[in-house]
Amino acid sequence: MKKQFETQSKRILDLMIHSIYTNKEIFLRELISNASDALDKRYVSMLEDNSDSFNRDDFFIEIHVDKDKKYLEIRDTGIGMSKEELESNLGTIAKSGSLDFKEMNKSDDISIIGQFGVGFYSAFMVADKLEVISKREGDDGYKWTSEGTDGYEIEQFDKESVGTTIRVYLKEDEEDEKYSLFADQYYIQELVERYSNYIKYPIKLNMKKVRAKNEDKDDYETEEYYEMVTLNSMVPIWNKEKSELTEEDYINFYKEQRYGFDEPLAHIHLNAEGMINYRAILYIPSKPSFDYYSKDYKRGLQLYSNGVMIMDRNEDLLPEYLGFVKGVVDSEDLSLNISREMLQKDRRLSAIARNIEKRIISELKSLLKNDREKYNEFFENFGLSFKAAIYSSYGEKKDLEDLLLFSSSKSEKPVSIEEYAQNVKEGQEYIYYATGRNYEAIDKNPALKKLKSEGYEILYLTNEIDEFVIKLLVSHGDLHFKSAYEEDLIEEDENLDEAEKTNRKSLFEKMKSYLGEDVVEIKESNRLDDDASILVSRGDFSIEMEKTFLLQPDAPKLKADKVLEINPNHKIFGELMEALSKNDEEKIELITKVLYDQSRLIAGLPLEDVLEYTKNVMKLI
Ligand code: ADP
Repeated sequence: MKKQFETQSKRILDLMIHSIYTNKEIFLRELISNASDALDKRYVSMLEDNSDSFNRDDFFIEIHVDKDKKYLEIRDTGIGMSKEELESNLGTIAKSGSLDFKEMNKSDDISIIGQFGVGFYSAFMVADKLEVISKREGDDGYKWTSEGTDGYEIEQFDKESVGTTIRVYLKEDEEDEKYSLFADQYYIQELVERYSNYIKYPIKLNMKKVRAKNEDKDDYETEEYYEMVTLNSMVPIWNKEKSELTEEDYINFYKEQRYGFDEPLAHIHLNAEGMINYRAILYIPSKPSFDYYSKDYKRGLQLYSNGVMIMDRNEDLLPEYLGFVKGVVDSEDLSLNISREMLQKDRRLSAIARNIEKRIISELKSLLKNDREKYNEFFENFGLSFKAAIYSSYGEKKDLEDLLLFSSSKSEKPVSIEEYAQNVKEGQEYIYYATGRNYEAIDKNPALKKLKSEGYEILYLTNEIDEFVIKLLVSHGDLHFKSAYEEDLIEEDENLDEAEKTNRKSLFEKMKSYLGEDVVEIKESNRLDDDASILVSRGDFSIEMEKTFLLQPDAPKLKADKVLEINPNHKIFGELMEALSKNDEEKIELITKVLYDQSRLIAGLPLEDVLEYTKNVMKLI
């Protein structure tokens, strides 16, 4: 009986088949990488079972082509799939999560498929029919067949050996698309060498060859015969010298290993000799994988000992904040049969991890220095990890501050803290920063006008975590970080006479009495021009932090100590003074409450009583 694909899967499949995906040949790489994964899984399960029937020669991938019948076949001796697995892995596209349906749904743009990887279904770009024959250890064999979006069938099928065979029936040739090429042995040979050269299992092609039929030199009669030819080099890429490898080799390895579907931003090829010997190839991706910021994301590097895989994803080789790094480490000093528990405690492993961390950081620093465009892109994607690392280490990871970027009052283009420090004004003691929802919101904040007009640069912190991070960093060289909103940036006006000073003081005291605990002080401000008042915070706990806590359901509702600054040059201040002289308490109270509420709004804080605020405003009008 024919089963339907899930609706979502059907849509994606449809996109895939009718796509104008230019690079149709990559389906071969996808199928070979699947086969290689399946071999890894079988290999690891045999290692874990201490299976004595284990034989390295049994692990391989074989390709058969038939030009007349127009198909190609990829056989592997991997783990295989049970009936249920065929159903769940191949009945639902992206079961393994390589595609994010939510993303997919937003757009019919085919390039999205490329972003998430194409996998098994990419074969439908070249095929009008696929057969998957698979068998797991101790189970019956099954055959899955599909001709595209209309569904698939599964039936029992005799298969002797464990593993999977995928037969790809090629589409009819079209004018500008010669699908039959994929049944051409030389073309397949070329593709495997290009895309799958470093797959660690042999990829053999059953090649048709021609030889003389007889030994006799004068007899030109020939015969055809078949010979299994191993196509890939299998020499681990990390064992080669850098000079032997091209940029393309590194990119192909990245894709072959499924490290990501993007182009890596940079790679590091290490060959360490000394106390501990190891080789490594590490990649910095240009884009985070779709699950990178989710808690399901698993970081880690592949770990090998002398070309043999020990673990597919070793977490201990990477600190959490470098979790985006992909790659492989091979150390002949590590024993192959080491258990995971022992490995975790292995000193050599932590020495490698420390070294790798250093190398990645220095690579990133040089990227920041030498290729700023690239670094900016990188930071946009992964910068949050560094902030989180500084924050969660309570500032112990202070050296990471060199990698941070912020936009500033001078430009939306990000600057590093060091660049800020290079450009301070003569005698400047502080690195000023201001927090807010986004660039525009901060830039418009009246509290910053004065500093800006005096030519001070202010870092704009738009992420919730930013201010917490800055507080942990404390200073950069001699320069201390200071919030540009902080109240003590205000000097008192010396031209005032004593009587005026006393009047103002009593006005502010009266005003404060109407606001109670809501503010710690009311005072005049010399940093405002058109605005009547602003709220700023006193002490370490800022208004921005209060807002962050407000947004988190479980966090305590802590309040910043707030100071209400009043602009003495504003018309409303004149009215207040006049009300004071007339002893019009009611008016002072009204204006005070409106000013306070308005300033809360400007600061992005919610109003405690919106109705009362509007009523008060109406009364004033
Ligand atoms: P992905 O490779 O991104 O997980 P695919 O669509 O390529 O997605 O494959 C879906 C799943 O089908 C794989 O995760 C794997 O479990 C299974 N699979 C595919 N090819 C093979 C194979 N040759 N042997 C065993 N399992 C396979």
